[in-house]
Amino acid sequence: MNIHEYQAKSLLRQYRVTTPRGEVVYTSRAAGRVAEELGGQRWVVKAQIHAGGRGKAGGVKIGNSPARIAEIADQMLGSTLVTAQTGPAGQRVSRVLVERASRIEREFYLSLVVDRESQRIVVVASAEGGVDIEEVAESNRDAIHTEYVDPGVGLLDFQCRKVATAIGLGNRTTSFTRLIKRMYRLFRDLDCLMLEVNPFIETEDGELVALDAKMSFDDNALFRQGDVVELRDFDEEDPKEVEATGHGLNYIALDGSVGCIVNGAGLAMGTMDAIAHHGGRPANFLDVGGGASPEKIANAFRIVLKDPNVRAILVNIFAGINRCDWIATGVVQATRDQEIDVPVIVRLAGTNVDEGRRILDESGLELIQAADLDDAAAKAVEAAQARQEVPA
Ligand code: GDP
Ligand code: MG
Repeated sequence: MNIHEYQAKSLLRQYRVTTPRGEVVYTSRAAGRVAEELGGQRWVVKAQIHAGGRGKAGGVKIGNSPARIAEIADQMLGSTLVTAQTGPAGQRVSRVLVERASRIEREFYLSLVVDRESQRIVVVASAEGGVDIEEVAESNRDAIHTEYVDPGVGLLDFQCRKVATAIGLGNRTTSFTRLIKRMYRLFRDLDCLMLEVNPFIETEDGELVALDAKMSFDDNALFRQGDVVELRDFDEEDPKEVEATGHGLNYIALDGSVGCIVNGAGLAMGTMDAIAHHGGRPANFLDVGGGASPEKIANAFRIVLKDPNVRAILVNIFAGINRCDWIATGVVQATRDQEIDVPVIVRLAGTNVDEGRRILDESGLELIQAADLDDAAAKAVEAAQARQEVPA
C-alpha cells in the first residue's frame, strides 16, 4: 500500500523528522489562503499523485505571492500529470501540497528498504540527491552507499556516522544520526517496505529537512496497522481492484483481451501460459479463491465485465475446497442476471465435476464447455480474436 507525500510527511513529523511547513488543499482558493497563513516570501506547490518524477514534469512549482500560488494550484488541480513514473496515461491531480519554500544548500538521497536477499532493512544513501536515483545507480555505482541493519541490535551509531561521512555530511553526524534513527524507528514501527526521502536537504541555515517523501507498507502487516489503513486512498487505486477486495476476491489487471476467472494463483499462472501458448493475452485475472459461493462467482463476472478490453471470458476452476456445482450455479446465475455480450468458456475439474457440467448443460445458455485447460485456452483465444475483428 502506498500513501501520498503529505501523509508520509505527517508520519515523519510524528517521529520528529523535520519537514517543510505546509498543508494539502483541494482548491486554488485554499492554496492561496494557506500560503498567506504560512507566511514567508516563497512557496512551493506540489501535485499529490502516487508517482515521483514530478519536478521534471511540472508537478512541483515555486511562486512568490499567494496570488501566484493560487494560479499555479489552479493549473495543476484537475490536470493529468505525466511523469517518468506514471506511464503514458498519467495521473489526475486532485489535491496539491502547499509548503513554504526551502532554501537549499545541498540535496541528498536517503532511503530505507527491506532487502529480501539479506532479510534485512538496508539504508541507501547518496550525495547525488534530488535526481533519478536509478540513473545514478547505473552510471555511478560508487556514489551510492548501503548499510545493512542487524534486526537484533537495530541501527547503530557507527553505521550512521559511516553513512554521513560517505555522503559528505561528516560535519553534521549528530543531526544526521538523529534523522536516520527516527526514520528507522518509523519504518520498523509501521511495517514499511520502503521509505524514501529524495531529496533530504541541508538548508542554508545548516538544518537537515525531508523535502520529499515516499512511503509504502507491507500489505500483509496491515491487519495490525489500523492507523496506516486509514490513510489508504481509494481514488488512486483501480476501482475494480477495490471492489474485488470488498468481495473477498483478488483482481489483477493486464492488457490482453481474455477475461479470466480462476481459483488460486498457481492456476492463474498456468491459465496465463496456456492463453499465451495459443497466441492470446489475458485482460485480467480474478481469483475467486477457495470456497467460492455462486454469489462470489456472480460478483467476479460483474468485475471482469467492467474491463472494456474483455472480448471473451474464460472460467477455469480446479475444485478442491470449491465445488463445481456451486461454480456452475454461479456462472449460470451471472449469465442470466447480467448482460454478458461476450462468449463464456468454462472448464471445470475436481469436486462434483459431473454435477457442475450437468447444471451448465441444462441451463439452456450459450456456454462453451471445454474438456481441459488446453482446450479451454484455445477456445477462449479463438473467441476473443473473432470478436476483435468485429468492430464494436
Ligand atoms: P519529485 O520530482 O516528484 O521527486 O519531487 P520533489 O519533491 O523531490 O521535488 C523535485 C525538486 O524540486 C527537488 O529536488 C528540488 O530541487 C526542487 N524543490 C522542491 N521543493 C523545493 C523548495 O521548497 N525549494 C527549492 N528551492 N526547491 C525545491
Ligand atoms: Mg523527489
